[in-house]
Amino acid sequence: MTILRNLLFFAIILYVATLNFFMFLDRMMSAVFYFNSLTIIIALLIISEIIYAFITKDRIQTLKRNNERLELHIMDTETEVVLLQTLSDILDAFNEEASLSDVLEKIAESVKNTFKEDTVVLQLIGESFKKCVLGKNVDIPEEILGGLILKPRPVLVNNTSSFSEYKYLAQQGVSSFIMTTLHYQSKITGVLGVFSFDNRVFTLKNLKLLRMVTGPTSLLVENTTLFEKTKVLSITDALTSVYNRRQFETIFDATLRDSKKGKNISVCMADIDYFKCYNDCNGHPAGDYALQKIAEIMKRSVKGSDIVARYGGEEFILLFPDTCKENAVHICETIREHIKAFKFPNEEAQPDGNLTISMGVSTYPEDGETKEELVKQADLAMYKAKELGRNKVLTP
Ligand code: GH3
Ligand code: MG
Ligand code: MG
Repeated sequence: MTILRNLLFFAIILYVATLNFFMFLDRMMSAVFYFNSLTIIIALLIISEIIYAFITKDRIQTLKRNNERLELHIMDTETEVVLLQTLSDILDAFNEEASLSDVLEKIAESVKNTFKEDTVVLQLIGESFKKCVLGKNVDIPEEILGGLILKPRPVLVNNTSSFSEYKYLAQQGVSSFIMTTLHYQSKITGVLGVFSFDNRVFTLKNLKLLRMVTGPTSLLVENTTLFEKTKVLSITDALTSVYNRRQFETIFDATLRDSKKGKNISVCMADIDYFKCYNDCNGHPAGDYALQKIAEIMKRSVKGSDIVARYGGEEFILLFPDTCKENAVHICETIREHIKAFKFPNEEAQPDGNLTISMGVSTYPEDGETKEELVKQADLAMYKAKELGRNKVLTP
């Protein structure tokens, strides 16, 4: 069309030049001829401009459409980049050292960086009810959580005050939110929500992005939970839930290594009295129950920094960091008293009419400087307690 338009202009210029040529030769035409010529020239110009304008308009529209398409494509690419960045950040959270809380925090951080909205809540459902909030706290009502467990679906709400079911969220200042569920083998394990205190913030695209994030998030949460469980199982005794002997030795080594000069560390070896007799009279399950109760009494009677572990069959070992012999003996006496006072089923049949425990306490550095020496001394003291009639706490 541009060529046509140029040709037209060229023809008009030629026509005007011819007229001028005639005028130059002094061969004047009539006024009507000039007037008509001028009218034709102007009409041709207008027509050409109108046609050109139409065509240009069409072109502009086509360009606009192309531009919109390109913008959408750029947005899609940006979304993909954001998604990949978020996923990469989330996967960064997975390393052997990271606890479940660390992982939840890292996921929430990545999601917050992605959406840049007021609050991100990552709430686990089931065995662990752990919750991680970034931003102002938002409590997700039980009805919403319950509803999602029964009917898992992604939710996008841009005006909470218009829905009675989201009234509680509206009361907390939340106006818009998107939320999706975390799954593991068709089981709902949690919810991930992004909350805004402004109205009409989220789009379907945002919800789609959040859904894409929840896949790897669910896997990561599940892996970390399993990893933590395995870690706990590997250091605890299955029957009594106190530390196992291996973990006790690890802690004991570290305590001796890190102990400051002049500080005491006490160890207690404890062995249940006539436990074979208790098992024989009442059966193994009753014996297991007694072991569990004794472990509970021990755990309850010591402070957080003290360690209780099952050393073997019916033997327990306790570690009291930064504790002198006198104080350790005092704590052990309390434990012994509590065990004696506890009513174990059918304990009247025991040789002393009671299920009791004998304990031996040794202290670093006076009774030994190494783990082996200290355990040996505590063991010898415990055997002395057995020889002297049981139900006693003795020192070397
Ligand atoms: P003493 O006062 O000299 O310590 O006598 P005892 O009967 O306690 O000592 P002995 O070593 O003869 O018996 C220990 C008993 O502990 C034998 C075993 O059946 C019991 N036992 C060890 N581990 C477990 C356990 O996990 N569950 C149960 N129920 N019993 C256990
Ligand atoms: Mg024993
Ligand atoms: Mg015993």
